[in-house]
Amino acid sequence: MFEKNVLPAILIIDDEEQIRRLLTDLLSAEYECVQACSAEEALAVLETRTFDLVLSDINMSGITGLELVPRIHESTPDTVVMMISGQQTIDVAIEAMRAGAFDFITKPMDLRQVQAGVARALSHRRLIEDKRRYENHLEELVQERTAKIEHLAYHDRLTDLPNRNLFEIRCEEALAIAPARGGAVLLVSLDRFKKIVGALGHAAGDVLLTTAAARMQCCIRGHDVIARFETDEFGILLTGVEDATEVTDVALTIAAAMKPSFSVGGGQDVFVTTSIGISLFPANGNDAATIIRNARAALDQAKQLAGNNYQFYVPEMNAQALTSLGLETNLRRAVEENEFVTYYQPIVCLASGKTVAFEALVRWQHPRLGLLNPVDFIALAEDTGLILEIGTLVMRTACAQVRQWQCEGHGPLRIAINVSARQVLEKDFLDQLIGVLAEARLDAQSLELEITETSIMENSESAIRVLSDIRRLGVRVSIDDFGTGYSSLSYLKHLPIDTVKLDRSFVSGVTTDLKDAALVMAIVSLAHNLNLQVIAEGIETNEQHDFLRSLKCDEGQGYLLGRPAPAELIDWTRLNPERKQNVVASHRATENIRLVINE
Ligand code: C2E
Ligand code: MG
Ligand code: MG
Repeated sequence: MFEKNVLPAILIIDDEEQIRRLLTDLLSAEYECVQACSAEEALAVLETRTFDLVLSDINMSGITGLELVPRIHESTPDTVVMMISGQQTIDVAIEAMRAGAFDFITKPMDLRQVQAGVARALSHRRLIEDKRRYENHLEELVQERTAKIEHLAYHDRLTDLPNRNLFEIRCEEALAIAPARGGAVLLVSLDRFKKIVGALGHAAGDVLLTTAAARMQCCIRGHDVIARFETDEFGILLTGVEDATEVTDVALTIAAAMKPSFSVGGGQDVFVTTSIGISLFPANGNDAATIIRNARAALDQAKQLAGNNYQFYVPEMNAQALTSLGLETNLRRAVEENEFVTYYQPIVCLASGKTVAFEALVRWQHPRLGLLNPVDFIALAEDTGLILEIGTLVMRTACAQVRQWQCEGHGPLRIAINVSARQVLEKDFLDQLIGVLAEARLDAQSLELEITETSIMENSESAIRVLSDIRRLGVRVSIDDFGTGYSSLSYLKHLPIDTVKLDRSFVSGVTTDLKDAALVMAIVSLAHNLNLQVIAEGIETNEQHDFLRSLKCDEGQGYLLGRPAPAELIDWTRLNPERKQNVVASHRATENIRLVINE
């Protein structure tokens, strides 16, 4: 295809002769055009030769254009198809995309648009070919590196010890080979590890972990397995154990090995103790998952006893753990004691690369379970109504924070806050919102509320009314996780909103899945036609970023651009590298003038 001096070939399918002739006249100077007056005729032609591009009408008697696309792709998956539709509705366009079409044109046709569309489709076709070549190359690379990747999949990067997956496999193997021979799983956790990292930094934490791992390795026999589980947690598998005293000996040896101080760099020496949970097999379980779970219950007990001890699992521990984890009472207490921390994730303007907003994402600093993500507690908070208090707390904290950043000269930043439907539908929500803005002395324009598409659909009438009121205040409204309630696409134009946040599940496929790419293209253009802004969520790779930017998607958010972090850990120099110099330069010139640099 695309050899020198050979014109790209286009198959034009339409049951109206006039349209076929019009398109042929328009395109035949640059391309080789072949006509077909029905999908059936087109299929017959396609059996004899291939085309770079198929331009097909949607509404034809017999096989329709939409039915034709998958049949073309069955035999020649790389053929690019553009659809021509008499109807101007977006739903038809989306249907065409879903069927596998690359683009669509509506009748009456704007000839310049057709030419531009054809050129775009053909350059897309070239990209597909490049992609195929690239994929073949990639496959070779993958084969070459399989061993390395497998190693990575089963080992911890920092210590190169087996990870939890491999540990579980080894456990199952031990149980299968010698079910009657005893063994034990020890979970070892370094006490106060998080505090040490907080005080001395991650580099010190890494040194501590590798040294501790090496010391532990000296406490076990060659055929025993040691693995790194989580941050400061190691698993040890002992096999061929005759009785519990052998296991106790290992636990005591580990505790003794940790006694000498650890030098963690920068002239710092630290002391560390361990908490150890032990479960025995076959006594405490017949499968890896149960044995590890029971060892964890024992570890929890050891930690509760202030660390620096080991505990054998006893069956009461699980029941105890369950009640003490009764999250609901815990959640109430968390609200009273304000155990919530707000993290902030940058939202970046894709055209300029500048950070223009942050999304506030709540975390629960649980005293025993550590930092919990919203998935672990938002549903419970909604069920119990505690979401109202948590929501207010997040809103007040985040508004005050962004106001502070604005005052510090970081530009006219917005803050995006997630609100649940339950919160928005509260009678006094609007008053509350006005109160929070006044308290933080924040412009309404700087605030954006995110609400999920599904929660609006579930409460549509009342939700629409409140959203309109919110926007009347000047506060922006965005639809979160857009695309997950796909059926409401045409419904979008009735919603009082400013922004669409494209769900991560689409973004992850844009550079690998043609259908995702087409769908995202359609959503972006539909949103722009409705004067809505689009923010893409979950951008993780440069390829995704570049693609979305080329689509003129307005803003983006994702691990590539910045992970959620607590306010004090936001790295402004990384977010807007040129900004630092500006601040410094301007401060020199005008000491007392506050800067708004983002404008
Ligand atoms: P969301 O509003 O769609 O937030 C985006 C989620 O995607 C966040 O998860 C964020 O950490 C994650 N994320 C961001 N970039 C990437 C990426 O590149 N890759 C991947 N894999 N993930 C990425 P998080 O913080 O766990 O929040 C989950 C959900 O919890 C949020 O989804 C939001 O619906 C809800 N939520 C968070 N904070 C609050 C809150 O204060 N109130 C309410 N009602 N809901 C909240
Ligand atoms: Mg959100
Ligand atoms: Mg989202």
